[in-house]
Amino acid sequence: MTMRYVSTRGAGFAADESGKSFCDILLEGLAPDGGLFLPQSYPVWSADELTALRGLGYAELAFAIISRYADDIPAADLKSIIDMTYTAEVFGSTDITPLKTLEPGLHILALSNGPTLAFKDIAMQLLGNLFEYVLDKRNAETNILGATSGDTGSSAEHAMKGKRGVRVFMLSPHEKMSPFQCAQMFSLQDENIFNIAVRGVFDDCQDMVKAVSNDSAFKAKYKIGAVNSINWARIVAQVVYYFKGYFAVTATNDEKISFAVPSGNFGNVLAGHIARMMGLPIRRLIVATNENDVLDEFFRTGRYRPRGSIETQQTSSPSMDISKASNFERFLYDLLWRDPAAVRELMRKVDHEGGFDVSGCTEIWKRMPAFGFVSGSSTHADRIATIRAVWEMHRIEIDTHTADGLKVAMNNREPGVQMVCLETALPAKFEASMVEALGRKPVRPLAYKGIENLPQRFEVMDADAGAVKRFIEDKIGRLK
Ligand SMILES: *Cc1c(COP(=O)(O)O)cnc(C)c1O
Repeated sequence: MTMRYVSTRGAGFAADESGKSFCDILLEGLAPDGGLFLPQSYPVWSADELTALRGLGYAELAFAIISRYADDIPAADLKSIIDMTYTAEVFGSTDITPLKTLEPGLHILALSNGPTLAFKDIAMQLLGNLFEYVLDKRNAETNILGATSGDTGSSAEHAMKGKRGVRVFMLSPHEKMSPFQCAQMFSLQDENIFNIAVRGVFDDCQDMVKAVSNDSAFKAKYKIGAVNSINWARIVAQVVYYFKGYFAVTATNDEKISFAVPSGNFGNVLAGHIARMMGLPIRRLIVATNENDVLDEFFRTGRYRPRGSIETQQTSSPSMDISKASNFERFLYDLLWRDPAAVRELMRKVDHEGGFDVSGCTEIWKRMPAFGFVSGSSTHADRIATIRAVWEMHRIEIDTHTADGLKVAMNNREPGVQMVCLETALPAKFEASMVEALGRKPVRPLAYKGIENLPQRFEVMDADAGAVKRFIEDKIGRLK
């Protein structure tokens, strides 16, 4: 039976709509009713089945997991897509996500050895290959339009460059990204990559994307697509390393361990939640935020209150500077007994009352502990102190985001329970903070030495949705 996908807000349950398949939702963003896609149920593995997964290599494990969700792709095809994605050549080692042990029971799972040195590559590299495959099968094409403040854009471009049927139009705030981030994107010379530097801030870029996407005629005519963090395939790809990390630190499936996850849009830790729902023995999922603590506030108090752009702080862990957590609605759906009417009601409150509070609703609040989430937040000073302490004690360099995770992990350690902290970026991406913490520049992988000096290719544009539309029309018209 094929896995069917439904919306958190209910579409897909109607008699005339039995839900969509994995490939149907692969290229889509929000569900038509404004909700997010989720599988109708999660596959659950027995202890024996888990044992059979132990010892698999990364690509084999990825196939075992992803094939349960992407079951409308013939197994042999999916296998070759996964095998070509998770290679030592792309991720630096056959482990793909190697483990570093700081001390007995405390580990870092390295997720940032892909092309752009951040964990997003793990999912995005798979997405690039899946897009090319599905577009080819359907004889279709897509023009990805996105906005980035750094990490997502470069990860997407490095995954989509040279892929047939895909073009990327990426907006970024002109002269606001770090020189390293600019170089990672702007030095790409591939014909299907278009970098647009907008005279404005990140929010202006995002508003332009929204304005273009709201023009449904333009969107349909130019086949505008997205690769943002709500993409379901990205979540599924991230489930894999929770299994990998679990098997790396345990000898049997009787042991429960905890994961600490630097969080922004709730995509990474949502994958941990799904791994746990699938039967992986996870004790706690520790949601670590920076000063932008909308998620920490929810898990501590039951109050969910997305912030406005003015309230959103710029911090030294910039990839976690979010005002609302786009993937949170998927957890809410599970928390609310997978009842779309209940989700719709809370999201209505978010839209009209600025948020909601479930702490007064005993039915919901007493279910919370069963999901294993705990949370905490950290400050700039915490990050700097954590980076320093880890260097002094273990001679390991961690970046500011990983430091947020480790700091909150240390506040939530339990005797006898192993802790795995997810490393989400390499220090080389955030030189200024590393200099502040350690008094010197971080180690930069060889391949990235001097990338700031490569020739760059980008267009500067006013913060005007009309201008980006004309640009897309012009480029696509000319290519045809
Ligand atoms: C995107 C990102 C995060 C946040 O991940 P979410 O899935 O949005 O919670 C954390 N750290 C780094 C380095 C990132 O790029």
